[in-house]
Amino acid sequence: MSDNGQPRVGVFICHCGANIASKVNVFEVAEFASKLDNVAFATEYKFMCSDPGQDLIRKSIKEYNLNRVIVASCSPLMHEPTFRTVTSEGGLNPFYFQMTNIREHVSWVTKDPEAATKKAKTLIAAAVKRVVLHEALEKKEVPVRSEVLIVGGGIAGIHAALTYANSGKKVYLVEKEASVGGHMSMLDKTFPTLDCSACILTPKMSDIGKHPNIELLTYSEVKEVTGFVGNFKIKINKKARYVDTDICNGCGMCWENCPTVIYPSERIIKKGDVTIKTLIKKN
Ligand SMILES: Cc1cc2nc3c(=O)[nH]c(=O)nc-3n(C[C@H](O)[C@H](O)[C@H](O)COP(=O)(O)OP(=O)(O)OC[C@H]3O[C@@H](n4cnc5c(N)ncnc54)[C@H](O)[C@@H]3O)c2cc1C
Repeated sequence: MSDNGQPRVGVFICHCGANIASKVNVFEVAEFASKLDNVAFATEYKFMCSDPGQDLIRKSIKEYNLNRVIVASCSPLMHEPTFRTVTSEGGLNPFYFQMTNIREHVSWVTKDPEAATKKAKTLIAAAVKRVVLHEALEKKEVPVRSEVLIVGGGIAGIHAALTYANSGKKVYLVEKEASVGGHMSMLDKTFPTLDCSACILTPKMSDIGKHPNIELLTYSEVKEVTGFVGNFKIKINKKARYVDTDICNGCGMCWENCPTVIYPSERIIKKGDVTIKTLIKKN
């Protein structure tokens, strides 16, 4: 599909109406680009993303036997897919395309036209050096895992977990403390509506506890994340609770008889003048 021989780069500089051209001297930049190593053709045009602009790229690929394409214009967010498609329609692998942003990164943020023109030249020179190193890539589909891991079981994590779980996804909710709830569990009323925090939070805490799609990993922390989007591998450290969670009913009686000062939470709950910590027997 693509000519893989000596790089022949085409550089297309967009005016973006007055967005770029009122600040950057696009004619001077095109002249500069045409003299760079490996550049076979350089030109400027009013709107590269317009139909005639796209056509100019397709025709130039054929006419100048180009095997690399650079468009110096706006943010790649919107038009990188456009120009990759155009490059492909011109007969090249779409990944032989490189975009460089001389609008958001140059004309919109640089006051002095001379400095803006100089910066645009520098960015284009860098893009040329880069695009000659590009390799033809092929898209492929890989299976992805749809499970979700949420770190932090405050109200945000709890709500996110319920939303994902209700949409049918398996959710792992990792909370470093012994219980989910976060800051909201320590508040009486919430500003500005003065709603009762517990009335909002408690039903949700209960819902995540019994939701078939949610695996709750409290007193746990993420230790390692490897892999990539769609195929992450996560190592989680489950800290020792010193409690048999299958038979624990949360009565708290064991605290008084516990032979150690280890307690599962950094939180201190006040009971009048006495804190829970003082109830724990020290060694
Ligand atoms: C004193 C106070 C008063 C407030 N009053 C109001 C109010 O009136 N109205 C209002 O709207 N908001 C109020 N807020 C803010 C409100 O508490 C927060 O906006 C809300 O609780 C934040 O929820 P969250 O889930 O984002 O974070 P958090 O409640 O902070 O929850 C984060 C959770 O993540 C866990 N976590 C952190 N790091 C890790 C990790 N590495 N691994 C695993 N788990 C981790 C934490 O233990 C915690 O459970 C107040 C906050 C404070 C501190």
